[in-house]
Amino acid sequence: MRFLAASTLALCGLAAAACGGTANSERVAAPVTAQPPVAGSPGAAAQVREKPLEGKTIVVDPGHNGGNARNPKAINRQVNVLTQWKACDTTGTSTNDGYSEAAFTWDVSQRLVKILKSRGATVKLTRKDNAGVGPCITERAAIGNKTRADAAISVHGDGSAPANHGFHVIMPKKINGPVDPVVGDSRELGLKVRDAFKKETGLPYSTYIGAKALSFRSDLGGLNLSTVPKIFIECGNMRNAAEAAKFQNPAFRQRIAQGLADGLQNYLK
Ligand SMILES: [Zn+2]
Repeated sequence: MRFLAASTLALCGLAAAACGGTANSERVAAPVTAQPPVAGSPGAAAQVREKPLEGKTIVVDPGHNGGNARNPKAINRQVNVLTQWKACDTTGTSTNDGYSEAAFTWDVSQRLVKILKSRGATVKLTRKDNAGVGPCITERAAIGNKTRADAAISVHGDGSAPANHGFHVIMPKKINGPVDPVVGDSRELGLKVRDAFKKETGLPYSTYIGAKALSFRSDLGGLNLSTVPKIFIECGNMRNAAEAAKFQNPAFRQRIAQGLADGLQNYLK
């Protein structure tokens, strides 16, 4: 019912001449409603478009954690990621002047969560701040699984040789394990996020990993153990001066978050 009433309002906005008349004259004007609503109109149709992620659950995993470096014992504990044993988590990289990957991924993730929620999604983060330790990569995957997320994304910045630059997405491979059924969906998610990220940030495809910014791996616990569609993104190379400067610009981090949100939405719609 609310939809119908609001549709009438939208109609009034579009065709004012029809709005002062009787119910009958509104009926005569009804075909106008078949036209797409004007952008920004207060009608229900516009409201529906503003919440395109209603009913979707997304897990956002900000890579690493600000307290990891101070807790090597907890972080270096070995965990089983099915294809090998690995450290529970790592410290991550940083720019040459000390802006940490953990701080970068936390900030981008906060921005991303805000955008996704504004579009109607239910969002869960894998850590609650940037001062703690972990969680382990196994737990980061488990959070997505327990949440039965429609999509999950792990946000990272790479630490490669200074001349290397550009971004890439990492998708799972079949490992005869729990991720196998979502390898195809994860690839779709990766393609959507790659395209939206490039469009929004203007960053180039990685010059040093993958083909057209696409990399497939079987050594990441966060992917191997995921039973929901999941990808990693390495937003760029924090050891490259130009990309380090961009990552330290809040406005640019907002564009990164926007690109990730658009990619997730394009996959989920
Ligand atoms: Zn990382």
